[in-house]
Amino acid sequence: MKLFDVYPLINVNLVKGEGCYVYDDKDTKYLDFYGGHAVISVGHAHPHYIKRLEQQLHQLSFYSNSVHLEIQQQLADKLGQLSGYNDYQLFLVNSGAEANENALKVASFHNNRKKVIAFKGAFHGRTAGAVAVTDNPKIKPPINDDSHVIFIDLNDEATLKNAFEKNEICAVIIEPIQGVNGIYEPTTSFLKLIQQLCTSNDALFIADEVQCGYGRSGKFFAHQLAEVQPDIITMAKGMGNGFPIGGILIHPKYAAKYGMLGTTFGGSPLACAAALAVLEIIENELLIENTIAIGNYLIEQCKALPQVKEVRGKGLMIGVEFEFAIKELRDKLIHEHKIFTGNANQPNTLRLLPTMNITKDAADLFLNAVKNILK
Ligand code: PLP
Repeated sequence: MKLFDVYPLINVNLVKGEGCYVYDDKDTKYLDFYGGHAVISVGHAHPHYIKRLEQQLHQLSFYSNSVHLEIQQQLADKLGQLSGYNDYQLFLVNSGAEANENALKVASFHNNRKKVIAFKGAFHGRTAGAVAVTDNPKIKPPINDDSHVIFIDLNDEATLKNAFEKNEICAVIIEPIQGVNGIYEPTTSFLKLIQQLCTSNDALFIADEVQCGYGRSGKFFAHQLAEVQPDIITMAKGMGNGFPIGGILIHPKYAAKYGMLGTTFGGSPLACAAALAVLEIIENELLIENTIAIGNYLIEQCKALPQVKEVRGKGLMIGVEFEFAIKELRDKLIHEHKIFTGNANQPNTLRLLPTMNITKDAADLFLNAVKNILK
């Protein structure tokens, strides 16, 4: 049977990972500055992560949400403690798109409206609701009708205010740092305006932290850099370090009702064990502190690279915009220097999403490789 050929593949067959490195089938070592789309947060094959999952496999890998699963509450408590959102409610799912889908549902159930504000360049996932609020016609079939979505330029405060005039807005969904588009940040003032307009119009402010959350920005959630407080926060990717898990944090003022949301696999004991291991590693190994230190170093050093136009981002979520399209540079980094990096919608931007435990030496490996290629 053939695989459905939807991905343009890099010609490398990965079979092993360790820390911030991955290995191909010929045992060639690669520095992982991409984490498989920002998923590997605490490093490949982390011993504590393996131990936690192994123990849970021997105990109970799955039961559905028809019984009490204590490990879900343990995850909620630990997440509340590390994120500062102890008073919020946690609903567990399996992916980023599903998290956004459920966030939009909670909003629409709350105010009975369906108009959603999203932003140009946004990526929120590929399921029906999530792709409707994504700004990319190429991945949107007719069935995912987006006529209920208003796309506004990031940081266009006047248009945002106008959009609220009819009092029909259900929710505003925003990435506190846009990832797929090429690492673009809304201003603090824009995020504060979203919060204010949502509050005064009974609309919900949804922060999509699927890519920028879980410590990657140097705060637990990237919106915390702007000191705003969304009604719903969505997360996935780094949450499970590769084990599929996502979730939404819901403000205490939104009450749950039986049957309102649901999932078979979401919140399985195995997924919760993975997510708990990630939080324990982030806390014990001070990975947010490391993200700030190495992130600041990388951002400063990237600004000094040849032919760089702009460096955007925070922590270890960095977009380096060059004066040229980066395809060839990225190919050379992978095949000649054995370093994985990411691309973005913006063709001149190299997207860096390394594991949060990278060292300065690993950062230097990347910086020297780019200098070498561009000399
Ligand atoms: N939201 C953001 C900001 C993302 O970057 C992504 C994936 O890249 C998603 C949502 C969708 O996540 P998933 O692929 O897990 O459905």
